[in-house]
Amino acid sequence: MSNNSNNKPYPHICKAFGVYETNCYIVQTPRGELVIDPGIGSSEWVLANVKNPLAILITHGHFDHIFDTAKLHENLKSTPIYCPSEDAFMMKSDCFDTGLTPCAPSVEVPCKKGREDFSIDGICFSYLHFPGHTPGCSIVFVWGDSTQNELSNQAQKSTQNNSQNNAQNQNHTTCPKSKNARIYSGDFVFHRSIGRYDFPYSSQSDMADSLRRFRDLDFALDLGLTLDESELEEVGQIEIFPGHGESSILAYEQRNVNLWLERMD
Ligand SMILES: [Zn+2]
Repeated sequence: MSNNSNNKPYPHICKAFGVYETNCYIVQTPRGELVIDPGIGSSEWVLANVKNPLAILITHGHFDHIFDTAKLHENLKSTPIYCPSEDAFMMKSDCFDTGLTPCAPSVEVPCKKGREDFSIDGICFSYLHFPGHTPGCSIVFVWGDSTQNELSNQAQKSTQNNSQNNAQNQNHTTCPKSKNARIYSGDFVFHRSIGRYDFPYSSQSDMADSLRRFRDLDFALDLGLTLDESELEEVGQIEIFPGHGESSILAYEQRNVNLWLERMD
């Protein structure tokens, strides 16, 4: 199945912005683009590379990941902005005094240490909450092409007109699960590293708990994937695209977690 061209993750383009070289991703789906973490100075690049932006997805509220959100919102007023609810305060005010222009999220994603599924025009993505780096710190799964046939049988609501405050819950859905996903991990896990937990609003105990949950997550089982034996192995090969630096592989970073937990003791 993995050789089927209709059965792949959506492609993306990526560029790093600002002194922290924060990765901004534009996921290119057949319906339009998902913009992930528009950091410092990213707005021109984003605007030049989107035709029909479906949503702006914020992994967590640190300024280097959200800095250009307000500028994008000025230009893309109907594009909803998703942010974990417990980090929304970092968008609504310049709480780190960085010169950030505040911008209210359209959708405050519930933070319940679980998964929240969304669909926009049939494009599915999920937020998985792993607090510690920040209270709302999350990773975003973007589900790939193989979901499309299943999706056509479901009543999906577009959020194109739901960009204002009452957008919450109106686009909740149950994502059809597919191994053809990509993970955008923000500052939770990186290639051979993890996010810092010594910032204001960080929590070492939450981070340790999140790392254990991440390590122990059986993605096939916990995400409800129904896979045959040959496909199960591929689930671990899902790629992770972090907020800084190069990409990695899910199973590889799950194996690394114990090293970080030992250092945290
Ligand atoms: Zn961060």
